[in-house]
Amino acid sequence: MSHSVTPVGVVRSCFKEKFAIPRQPHLAPAARGVLELLPPFDQAGAVDGLEQVSHVWLLFLFHQALEDTPRLKVRPPRLGGNRSLGVFATRSTHRPNGIGQSVVRLERVEPGRLWLSGLDLLDGTPVLDIKPYVPYADRVEGAVNRIGADAPPAIPVEWDGPALDAATVHGQRLAEPLVALVEQCLAQDPKPAYQVPPPERRYGVRLWDVDVHWHYPEPGRIRVLDVVRA
Ligand code: SAM
Repeated sequence: MSHSVTPVGVVRSCFKEKFAIPRQPHLAPAARGVLELLPPFDQAGAVDGLEQVSHVWLLFLFHQALEDTPRLKVRPPRLGGNRSLGVFATRSTHRPNGIGQSVVRLERVEPGRLWLSGLDLLDGTPVLDIKPYVPYADRVEGAVNRIGADAPPAIPVEWDGPALDAATVHGQRLAEPLVALVEQCLAQDPKPAYQVPPPERRYGVRLWDVDVHWHYPEPGRIRVLDVVRA
């Protein structure tokens, strides 16, 4: 059986590229965005009652990772990219039907717009469905996952003084917690786990409309070098 699906909305998020997006929701509570609902779901009736809910499940399309040929095995970055696992044992973006799912915090509800935080979705991600989180059913006591039991350890993030000043100013301009966003995303160590970069190698990512650059002064340390308007 085949069945076509149509997005109910599109996420406008802080993440303008895939690099440095946390690998799961909630790892960066400062990662915010708006889910813009599409007709006919942009009417007040479609979100009636949702203001009583703190979190929602988003079912979405990994629209920048869609593939024609299904993979049976994938190499999750979390495992360093050198160990393969069955696709159904992972939350990899490379999967049949390209469907992702994330529980995110629902900050505010308006007709046609849901304000969200704790996102791990790229800007422009098409959302296929939205469901309320149901604590008694979705929180599973005693659940076990021996592949990814705990959140990855956070790396301390240091700042060059002018970079911190610039992030503070841009955060005020954007009315967004930009300093926290940078710290929470970089603390996940976005670079591939197998890379041991020399201190002179610079990495960069765009968050909202600013470009953030950092380096690794030594393994296990991150220092933000500059934050500039794109
Ligand atoms: N929480 C979801 C899940 O379990 O289905 C996503 C997990 S997936 C490992 C998270 C990664 O998906 C992010 O780090 C980001 O790079 C990538 N991603 C997010 N939105 C995407 C999109 N629309 N297309 C392709 N990749 C995306």
